[in-house]
Amino acid sequence: MHAIGIDIGGTKIAGAVVDDDGVIVAEDRVPSPARDSSAIEDAVVEMVSRLRDGREIAGVGVAAAGFIDAAQSTVYYAPNLSWRNEPFRAKLTARLSMPVVIENDANAAGWAEFRFGAAQLVSDMVMLTIGTGVGGAIVTGDELFRGGFGTGGELGHIRLVPGGLPCGCGVRGCLEQYGSGRALGRLADELADAGGIGQVLADKREAAGGTLSGADIYELIVAGDGGAITALRRLGSYIGQGCATLGAVLDPQMFVIGGGVAQAGELLLEPVRSAYLDSLPARGFHPEPEFVIAELVNDAGVVGAADLARIAAAKQEA
Ligand code: BGC
Ligand code: ZN
Repeated sequence: MHAIGIDIGGTKIAGAVVDDDGVIVAEDRVPSPARDSSAIEDAVVEMVSRLRDGREIAGVGVAAAGFIDAAQSTVYYAPNLSWRNEPFRAKLTARLSMPVVIENDANAAGWAEFRFGAAQLVSDMVMLTIGTGVGGAIVTGDELFRGGFGTGGELGHIRLVPGGLPCGCGVRGCLEQYGSGRALGRLADELADAGGIGQVLADKREAAGGTLSGADIYELIVAGDGGAITALRRLGSYIGQGCATLGAVLDPQMFVIGGGVAQAGELLLEPVRSAYLDSLPARGFHPEPEFVIAELVNDAGVVGAADLARIAAAKQEA
């Protein structure tokens, strides 16, 4: 049966009707109504009714960037958004005559990669989404890991640097502050400030009115600029160090790297792998995981959220 997946991002809300094989049969997207949660709720309700279009729908999965409770109902906290103890599921269920579950956005993306994308052939995988924040998903023994209170797999908030940069989650030194798209901007700024290899970044920043966007940095990476590539390599090195810690705990066969910054492909994976190996306990004496780029790119969130909604609805019926 079809299910609907909705992915609430910082700039857009994407939605899709997805079949049992993870194939999108209809899709929709609207600009995100900024940080206003009742406007987001309205936009989701309107999108679901447009997408439904008379079809029978098993359930609606809504992917959101935050800590979600075990009942998949409440967004406890969203480090980069204004949600605090937001009872999103209750609000949506009151307006939609369908089962609804709220999913962490990275869990949805990771589940989609495991079921239909890059990690179909493994039983244990870790996904990191490198965007505004760093999202994480853990699949272990073919199951999505949620932890005891639902907020497991918040891999962007593992501590990488004790006493390091303050994070939106309220503590210091999280991987998110060193391995996200925002961190790439900061690393590029630092290189631009230092001149030398960062001179082209500095010139681009000045031409752009003082701020380098992700697209500006990406353009320079593709053009082979040494400064932009150094920023990306530093970012990759932090991500690889984080992955080594995760590898020691979870022993995955595969790490999948997704999110906007993953479009840099092998240029990002190479420093990730190399830092991983440098920080890996018992290196050389146990099998090593593969590092790959996500396959479902922009669709992962909606496809995974829909599939998880279908699974939750089937459990409720059983
Ligand atoms: C949030 C996660 C989310 C990630 C990516 C992090 O800051 O804590 O819940 O998955 O950003 O959006
Ligand atoms: Zn944090």
